[in-house]
Amino acid sequence: CGIVGYVGAKQAQDVVIEGLRRLEYRGYDSAGIALAHEGSVVWDKRPGKLANLEEAIASTPLPASTTGIGHTRWATHGAPNYANAHPHLGKKGRLAVVHNGIIENFAQLRAELEAAGHEMVSETDTEISAHLLENEVAAGADLTTAMQNVCRRLEGAFTLVALDGADPSRVVAARRNSPLVVGLGEGENFLGSDVAAFIEHTREALELGQDQVVTITRESVEVTGFDGSPAEGKQYHVDWDLSA
Ligand code: GLU
Repeated sequence: CGIVGYVGAKQAQDVVIEGLRRLEYRGYDSAGIALAHEGSVVWDKRPGKLANLEEAIASTPLPASTTGIGHTRWATHGAPNYANAHPHLGKKGRLAVVHNGIIENFAQLRAELEAAGHEMVSETDTEISAHLLENEVAAGADLTTAMQNVCRRLEGAFTLVALDGADPSRVVAARRNSPLVVGLGEGENFLGSDVAAFIEHTREALELGQDQVVTITRESVEVTGFDGSPAEGKQYHVDWDLSA
């Protein structure tokens, strides 16, 4: 339902939680966060209010990290419980994914992955995307190429945001029939399902087009099609009144 991503110099968990709070108006049933840390991902997720996640992190803090993603879920596949909350991870725990929307051909992809020895721990349509990305990365692709390759196999409506703990320099996202906006900062960049996710940090935004993949690092934003060809988003200035 709500999505946030961050790469920069600030503590990602602060930026991500604050972004999720700004997206609360969309409604949700659970919330989660993943951060890049020492070659893998660290994460937490909780059913219910965002406050549940915030309390969990306050009592058991996540390690410092400047690369992170977050999600508030509105369940479509699988009950609103702990196992189905995002982020979802591959079997090696190196990659984390959050997702808005519905991957329509997930059952077929799940059967294929399970036949190849992948075990799913949730009932979501999302979890397969973490395993597919992990396969690509294990075969030598960087996360950007992995995302392009995986998206060409997916049907439906999705915004996907992924983190590779082994490559904390980037966060990669993609969209089809579901919104995705980049917040352009200085020495930092943001991702959101809408601009509310990062409005406190920047008002320069880049709206992604249909079937596009975006890679953000601290210093760069690179957009391609699902086929890897260079593409461009639509840049604009957000002039909302924040007090509203
Ligand atoms: N279909 C996914 C799920 O049920 C994502 C739902 C959402 O957009 O929050 O977990």
